[in-house]
Amino acid sequence: MTPTDLVDLHLHSSCSDGSDTPAELVRTAFDHGCRSIALTDHDTLSGLGQASEQARALNMQLISGVEISIPFQQRTMHLLVYLNDGAHEALEEHLRVLQTGRRERNRAIAKAMADDGIPITYEQVVVQAGSEEGLGRPHFAATLVNLGVADTIDDAFDRFLATGRPYDLARKSLTLDEALELVRASHAISVVAHPMTLGYTTTTLGSIATELRERGVDGLEVYYSRYRPEIRLELEAIAHAAGLLATGGSDYHGTYKIGLKPGVGEGDLRVPLRCFTDLSDELSRR
Ligand code: AMP
Ligand code: FE
Ligand code: FE
Ligand code: ZN
Repeated sequence: MTPTDLVDLHLHSSCSDGSDTPAELVRTAFDHGCRSIALTDHDTLSGLGQASEQARALNMQLISGVEISIPFQQRTMHLLVYLNDGAHEALEEHLRVLQTGRRERNRAIAKAMADDGIPITYEQVVVQAGSEEGLGRPHFAATLVNLGVADTIDDAFDRFLATGRPYDLARKSLTLDEALELVRASHAISVVAHPMTLGYTTTTLGSIATELRERGVDGLEVYYSRYRPEIRLELEAIAHAAGLLATGGSDYHGTYKIGLKPGVGEGDLRVPLRCFTDLSDELSRR
């Protein structure tokens, strides 16, 4: 029997690098048992109108969000930003700058691949993505698969696009302090997404969590689909000790991340309802 009370605070639509339109995504989340969700596309709020309309029609609770990439030490931190309803002009202005940087980076990736003899054009990747807006590395990966250059999206990342691979080119980004200032000014909430990608052990992450909290980070993504239950428990303890909100989600991207479903991730994910209520309560205080 499908549950009807699942929570998922990390979902991507075709406005960034997911394969489902915002309306399809919300419908799919509903069909998998979600009733309390957040849309967190990369660098854009453009799916939120359609998503909230669909959520309203299905009587679901939806929090607005966006995920931004920030250089951190030698790695990239993904910061989930959760927002109150209403206008976000300052944030949108910064997101437009990030989108322009993304476009420049994307053209540079296409050129670098073509220069190296990979038979790909920027236009093919735009067709794959549906538009230039929200185009990202997963669209390059899918195009390489279609061209027969890579076997799967993961294979394309492993060989060409993942961190440290030849076509992971840098793009314009905000510093963590700039992003946190923008979050504060937007009366929003910041959460470090999939924190193990920062590359620390949970022990080190424990000490860094307090520093992050002091710098203005509000939460930690504890219940992440691709983390083992033991890791989720350790992250839960870290968030609790540092006074950070605990959130969670699948990071569902449709066909761009195989094996994940909204709400349940790889099957065993359960994000406690209090993650959603704590987050909305905290937002209402901002
Ligand atoms: P971009 O924002 O264009 O730099 O692309 C980043 C996106 O690529 C992430 O949000 C993930 O969806 C995806 N991604 C990053 N690394 C990998 C990887 N190693 N394997 C599969 N997908 C990845
Ligand atoms: Fe993504
Ligand atoms: Fe992410
Ligand atoms: Zn994500």
